[in-house]
This record gives sequence, structure tokens and C-alpha cells, in this order.
Amino acid sequence: MSLRVTRRLVAVLSVVLMTAAGRGADETRPNILFIFADDHAYQAIGAYGSVINETPSIDRIAREGMRFDRCLVTNSICGPSRAVIQTGMYSHRNGYFRNGNVFDGDQRTFPKLLRGAGYQTAVVGKWHLRSDPTGFDHWDVLIGQGPYYNPPMIANGTRVERVGYTTDIITDLALDWLKQRDAKRPFMLMVQHKAPHRNWQPGPEHLATYDDVMIPEPPTLFDDLATRGTAARTANMSIAETLTRFDLKLDPPKNLTATQRAAWEVAYGPKNAAFEAAKPTGDDLVRWKYQRYLKDYLRCIASVDDNVARLLAFLDDTGLAANTIVVYCSDQGFYLGEHGWFDKRWMYEESLRTPLLVRWPGVAAPGSVNGRIVSNLDLAETFLEAAGVPVPEDMQGRSLVPLLRGADPGDWRRSFYYHYYEFPGAHSVRRHYGVCDERYKLIHFYNLGEWELYDLHRDPHELRNVYADPAHAAVVETMMIELTRLRATLDVPPDHQPSPPPPPASPAPGTGTP
Ligand code: CA
Repeated sequence: MSLRVTRRLVAVLSVVLMTAAGRGADETRPNILFIFADDHAYQAIGAYGSVINETPSIDRIAREGMRFDRCLVTNSICGPSRAVIQTGMYSHRNGYFRNGNVFDGDQRTFPKLLRGAGYQTAVVGKWHLRSDPTGFDHWDVLIGQGPYYNPPMIANGTRVERVGYTTDIITDLALDWLKQRDAKRPFMLMVQHKAPHRNWQPGPEHLATYDDVMIPEPPTLFDDLATRGTAARTANMSIAETLTRFDLKLDPPKNLTATQRAAWEVAYGPKNAAFEAAKPTGDDLVRWKYQRYLKDYLRCIASVDDNVARLLAFLDDTGLAANTIVVYCSDQGFYLGEHGWFDKRWMYEESLRTPLLVRWPGVAAPGSVNGRIVSNLDLAETFLEAAGVPVPEDMQGRSLVPLLRGADPGDWRRSFYYHYYEFPGAHSVRRHYGVCDERYKLIHFYNLGEWELYDLHRDPHELRNVYADPAHAAVVETMMIELTRLRATLDVPPDHQPSPPPPPASPAPGTGTP
């Protein structure tokens, strides 16, 4: 037998043996259940100390696993975040910079790699990458953003009309798939909710939840943004000015069934009549809009939490819980009235940080908390390592498995690069990139030629831009060097090179603003 034939025979036998091991009764590779919300702020999760709502089922994942307190996204908006998760690469490498781009489904993704290693892979719910999902044995996704009620969906290429509340439907579809899967092989299932994305339509069971309470206001609800830069002052995402009648449910959704519409009228009719009678103005109107917005947002989350409970119960009832990694996270953070805003996009904290909870029995200690800088960029590599699949060298994150095991690697990242591109675009947030470490955040609005620096220890609400404060000159210099280093390491294209910093203006002493 020639050497070449022998090698080929060995290779074929290896694959057969690996496949047999992978499909055998002694399969030990963990399942992965990835539960993903859209725009779910950490401020609205009990495990993160929410003062505005309760999320008992999501909290259970934290109680039985690890809570990451500083999970940062690379580009804080729906589609780009999903592309980063699929590829383990920044937007400038996966080609998906802003909503409306079309994801190149031919590129390498972590579901493809898991599938190639014998995992059953599926995605249900919001996909939002415009091209069809690839790398999945089964997919059943909303069309674009998708509605909260009665969503048409695309199931493996075929349009299907569905009646009901989308958050419930997505969970139904997830459970249906889990029940029919091949129980001898591990699975990776992505359950991706549309909720609690704008315009925050509650489900039938939560239309009246929070009716009798006042949601606490954040201390910066009436921030005038005077100590920030041009970008913050010219954005269009204020509760006072930007929310529409449709957002505020003064006009009902148009696609409800007669039964759904009747329930909607029972819930919103009296509320709207009270509003029309009171006719609030000025700050009172902002406060009314805040209450209306937040309550609907939290009602949507209540349904997500109910549906997390259904998934966890299924894992319990089937005995799958012990060998299934359960992840709960969101595609980015969100403003819940801080600085008078809703929405995301910014490198500022409420937008940059996203919740990340991971339950992995026998690996992640129950109730553990991790404060290291981690990212949605790390998820692909985490899932690959957990599954024993080699991690491609050109992925740009880092597996969280060591952190989940309780280790604290000395060379873990101490800084993080961010880049937002969608301008012109919805909400008029200017393009920016920046670097943050465990204390400082340097942001460059490069089309404006403006820089901002925040000291998160002294100014956790980012109310005071100290870029031009001479007392921070050394910090600016250090952060500038780190920004340049990260951009080089991450292979950011040169057309986004930072322009030279403007000479410090003579600052007004004590204000830190030029
Ligand atoms: Ca989102």
C-alpha cells in the first residue's frame, strides 16, 4: 500500500471514528442554548440590580451561573452585533457595518464550524442580516425586524404566516425543534427574540402589568447635554422629542386580529382617555412619555422572562440541563431615559455594555460574577472551545471558557476598541470610534474632529467630558497610544485612521470643556 493511500485511509478512519464518537451514547460535548434579546438593557434585569423591574427567570441563569458585569459590544446596533457574534470578527472584517448591509453568508461562522463537527444547529426568531441564514440544519426567522404580533416568517426558505405574540411563537418554535432533534447528538440552538425592540408592544398577558406603579426616573432624565460634545447634542433619540404616537401607543398597531385588538382597547383605551383629558405639557409631558415608554418596554421584557422560564423548564424536565450551556444576552445595551434618551449606538456606557449571563453546570460556579472586559466578539470562540472545536486564529475575540472555569488569566484584555458607522442614519448618531479601559474612555467623533474623554470612576454617568482638561493630558496621551495600538492589532482600515488631535483649547477651569 502506498504512503499516500495509507494516509488517506488513516484520514478516513479518523473521520469515521470521530463521527462515531460524536454520535455515540458516550457523547459528552455540551449543548448550547443561546437566548438572545434585542435591546435588553442590563438596567432592566434583576440580576444586574434593576430598580425598575423583576426578571426571575433570567435571574435564575445568573444565580446558577456566571454574570459578566463588563460585556462590551464592538458596534452598538442590531445587525452589526449579530454579524460579530456569527463570525467572531469586528465589522471591518465581517463586512457588516450598519443595518441595511447584506451579510455575506458564504463567510466562516461559528455555527458552520459546530455543524461541521457534528452539532445540530438551529436558529429561530430575529435574524436581521438580510441574507438567508447559513450553517444551520434548521432556521425559522422573522423577516427583517418583524412585528410583535402575527409575524410572517421564513422557515428554511418558505414563507409561513403565524398568528400570536411573537415572543411566545419564537419559544414555541424553539421547543418544537428541540423535541424533534436527534437526541444522540449535541445541539446549538439560537433563540433570538425581537423583544424588547422599539416600538415595545406588550403581549396579551402583560398589557396591564405595571398599570398601578410609577417607574423610578433616572437622575439624568433631564440632562441638557451641555457638558458633552456636538454629537450628543445633535442626535435624535430623546424621549421628549423623538418618540411618536405609534411608539407611545396613542395609535394602536395595525395588524391585530379582532380578538387582539379588543384586548388592546381594554388595556390602552382608558389610559389614552386619561392622557387626552390631562393634556400634560413641558416636563410633565416628558415624564408621561417616560412612564409610557418604560412600562411598555418592561412589559415586553416580562414576556421574554416568561419564555426563558419555559426553555429552562424544558431543560429540567428532559434532563438536558446538566449538559447544556445556557447563555442570555442582548445585541447591545439601551437607554432607559438616562440623559433623556432611548435607543443605543453610542460608545457611552448604557449603550456599550450588554448583559451576559452564562449557566454551565459543573464549570461556571453558581452565582459567580466576573468584572473583566469581555465582548460579544468573544462568543464564537467561547462556543467553539466549549465544543472542543479548534478556534481559527484570525477570529478577533477570546474564548471566555477560562473565565467561566474561574481562572483570571494575567494576559486578559485591559482595553477595548469600539467603532460605530451608521451615519447618516436613524437617530443621527455621528460616526465614532474609541478605546476604553477599566477606568477611562476616549472617543473620537472623526467626522466632527471632536474628542471626548470620560473618567468612569469619578464620573460614572459620563456627564463631564474632560478631554481638554490639562489635568488629564497624560491620560489622553496614554489612551491615544492604546487606541493606535488596538487599531493596528485589529487591522482597522487606514481610511478610519484617527486625525491628529486638535490642540487643546484653553479650557474653562473646572469645567473640562473646551
Ligand atoms: Ca438591537
